[in-house]
Amino acid sequence: MGFDFLGLSEDLLSVVEKSGYTEPTPIQKKAIPSVLQGRDILGIAQTGTGKTAGFTLPMIDILAQGRARARMPRSLILEPTRELATQVSESFEKYGEKSKLTMALLIGGVAFKDQEQKLDRGVDVLIATPGRLMDHMERGKVMLSGVEILVVDEADRMLDMGFIPDVEKICKAMPQKIQSLFFSATMPREIKRLTDQFLKDPKEITVDAPASTAQTITQRLCKVKGGEKEKRVALRQLLTSEEVKNGIIFCNRKTVVKVVKKSLSVHGYSVGELHGDMPQSLRTETLAGFKNGDIQLLVASDVAARGLDIPDVSHVFNFEIPNNPEDYVHRIGRTGRAGREGHSFTLTSPSEKKSLGFLTKFLGKEIQIHELPGQQKSPPKSSVKKTETPQNKKQDDHKKPQKQQVKPKPESKASRQPKKEQPVFGKSDFVPAFLLRDDGKKKKST
Ligand code: AMP
Repeated sequence: MGFDFLGLSEDLLSVVEKSGYTEPTPIQKKAIPSVLQGRDILGIAQTGTGKTAGFTLPMIDILAQGRARARMPRSLILEPTRELATQVSESFEKYGEKSKLTMALLIGGVAFKDQEQKLDRGVDVLIATPGRLMDHMERGKVMLSGVEILVVDEADRMLDMGFIPDVEKICKAMPQKIQSLFFSATMPREIKRLTDQFLKDPKEITVDAPASTAQTITQRLCKVKGGEKEKRVALRQLLTSEEVKNGIIFCNRKTVVKVVKKSLSVHGYSVGELHGDMPQSLRTETLAGFKNGDIQLLVASDVAARGLDIPDVSHVFNFEIPNNPEDYVHRIGRTGRAGREGHSFTLTSPSEKKSLGFLTKFLGKEIQIHELPGQQKSPPKSSVKKTETPQNKKQDDHKKPQKQQVKPKPESKASRQPKKEQPVFGKSDFVPAFLLRDDGKKKKST
């Protein structure tokens, strides 16, 4: 079944065709006709399922009739992170190309003034993170009494990030008779309470079991003897031995993100970092650099794990077992998207035994062990890139500098760009310990 039978307008069908979509995804098949009929939706769906188009396409058609009034948006989409909000606004721009709908994006880290000006002119579609929206509401710059359609996306992520009280306040500021669409990858009790409260006879759509991972992603577990230092060595081994075109390395805490990023950077890798402590402009710039291939490795906290649509990531590395087993699914879901092949490696040390147990229980199966070269009895069959590995150089992060070792110099942009389809690789395995020390303040992790 193509898109023609879903009830979308001719304009939207041509935009969909232009996007190269030939078949609606399961969630689009189920959600689009119901949204067009005005029904509330409870969608249990992960990112990567095409859910964004599942709600944006019908919304564009519904909102085509009617006019926006100053400070009274006609629809609201709540997203947990700035990146997701930005991504959804990009989808709106793409799918709404033929419509005259106006849109505003209200996210933190950006000046209020421009956002206020847009609100003053009147917007059909408001895309926001809860915190910034509340700020505007408290300043009296936005009123939700004109909202006709509400979307709460990634509701379980909102819960993890502590946004549920804000979401609840926002929902209560809406008129009673609105159409509400809630999407969540999982259904924790708190979310169920919220959906029971705000959804009216919703159509429930489940497209993927919460603990399922795409078939196209290989999952491997690397047991590392030692702690973070040994894991950094193990990570570099993997970057050397695997065909890594580009990859995301997930860490549980921002402090670890910073140390791992610094370590890879001094080893000559093209690497960026992404976490909640960074100014928005830098987050956007880093993400753009990763998407366009200027940066091959991205060390990230879970802020980047959900929803980010980076179509072509060859590898995901979990530097640690995530605190929340569901995050494992979201993290590794950054690779193997849209039916492509993807690879994931999870590094674990003896101290994480308990978290590994939880993860295995959650997944309902053991992750296949991948022997690291240094932990194998015999040497690896092939080491694709580097002839020198941290093992054969007998170095570790804390050794003193030796004469023949040169600290990597700042690279030109051109030299950082590997040839297409070539794996990334480092230049030297030695890093003086002081360079790896985290000099950031100890803060709560993201
Ligand atoms: P989402 O789950 O909304 O983040 O979408 C994941 C990716 O799937 C995005 O890159 C979309 O552009 C893409 N996508 C959405 N709908 C379709 C479709 N019907 N066919 C192919 N790709 C799609």
